[in-house]
Amino acid sequence: MMEKDIQEVLFTKEVIHDKVKELGKKITEEYNNKEVVVIGVLKGANIFLGDLVREINLPVAIDFMAVSSYGFSTESSGVVRILKDLDLEIEDKHVLIIEDIIDTGLTLKYLTENLKSRKVASLKICTLLDKPLRRKCDLEIDYIGFEIPDEFIVGYGIDYAEKYRNLPFIATLKREVYE
Ligand code: 5GP
Repeated sequence: MMEKDIQEVLFTKEVIHDKVKELGKKITEEYNNKEVVVIGVLKGANIFLGDLVREINLPVAIDFMAVSSYGFSTESSGVVRILKDLDLEIEDKHVLIIEDIIDTGLTLKYLTENLKSRKVASLKICTLLDKPLRRKCDLEIDYIGFEIPDEFIVGYGIDYAEKYRNLPFIATLKREVYE
């Protein structure tokens, strides 16, 4: 039903699953028994986070933030509004931010500055997808699933106009769908 809108599948369900397992293993090893507060950026990171935390063998607390860029442009402006803040206190905690996709990096730049000011013990970033060609600021990303070119993608939690989040794979859309 949604398949007719798909241009090309970039990452299948199986390929995503293998990558999520690999990331979980790496995170487990590198945090070496530390407790970690995993923060998902809504809504896109929700499905990735759900799968990833089940591959992390550490004591994990989960929280979510919702943010939006000011304005209606499809491009991030760098001015970010917090729509939902954390429920948990993160002072002295090891915090791992989970993102679906990093594009200009401006959203995460704002978010990391904001979270660092809460006196965390450490702060790392994990993203499933990265578009390095689009970066507009300095951002150190600790865990990256896949690097992708500058193409608009959907699926596995990532939407276009709230659709396609439930696709089990990551794909590009046909141009006529969004033009
Ligand atoms: P940034 O501040 O890094 O430019 O913005 C990242 C956000 O832009 C992502 O969380 C996502 O919501 C949106 N985004 C960037 N690239 C894509 C894409 O290819 N497809 C979709 N659906 N959203 C994207």
